[in-house]
This record gives sequence, structure tokens and C-alpha cells, in this order.
Amino acid sequence: MMKKISSQQVHMGKLQHGADLLEEITQTCNRENIRLGRIQAIGAVQRARLAYYNQKTREYRFFTIDQPLEILNLSGNISLKDGEPMVHAHISLADDAGNAYGGHVAPGTVIFACEIVIESFEGPAFERSFDEETGLPLWRL
Ligand code: ZN
Repeated sequence: MMKKISSQQVHMGKLQHGADLLEEITQTCNRENIRLGRIQAIGAVQRARLAYYNQKTREYRFFTIDQPLEILNLSGNISLKDGEPMVHAHISLADDAGNAYGGHVAPGTVIFACEIVIESFEGPAFERSFDEETGLPLWRL
């Protein structure tokens, strides 16, 4: 199921050193009034807290990687949950030997430096609600 939307604006900037990655992106969306969009970023984090969704138990398992890491790529989107903008982002990270880690970005990931591009979209609202099949808050299309 798809909905047609059109690209409206591109916002490009950097995020605050030492701040929480997910919180900073969410605050940026609120400040710029972005309710629907796409996110891409690169940079580095001081530590990461990620999650993996277990499809059998239908629960997220959270884990922390407590070391400085490069952000190889962050991809995400912005849509609405309970009427408020919600950022959903996944991230690939690398350590000093080039080993990669990844997952669903959770609160507790601390920015070292982050260059971000957010593309905002115009069109019908994308609202998340509980999905029976997956147990996740997915888009109601
Ligand atoms: Zn996710």
C-alpha cells in the first residue's frame, strides 16, 4: 500500500555535540514543523544504544555499545504517532577496526558530531497505530 506525496523542502545542518541523537532529531522536526519526511545522516557517536525487534516475542531487545563509533549511515523517517511527529531511524556504525554494528536507534545514543539532511514531504498524514500482524506501531494507510 502506497500513498502519493511530494517533496517540499530539504533541511540540512548539524546536530549538537553531546546531545541525545534521537531527541535532537525529534526536536529539530518539531522546531521546523516537519510532520512527514525522510532523514539521512553521517557523523560519529560517543556511545550507542540500539534495539533489535524480536519477531517471536514481539519485544525490542536493547543493547549499548559503550565506545566512540563512526556513523556510516543513519536512515529514517518522520511520521505521526498519537498526533505528534515521531522519528523512526536505523543506523550503521563502525569501530576503529572497521567492524560494523547496527540497529534501531534508541534513546541513549550520544552525538559526537552529526551532519544531517531532512527532506520534508507534503501530502496526506502518515499516522502510526498498533499492527496486529507484527505487534509494531505501523502506518495506517
Ligand atoms: Zn526500527
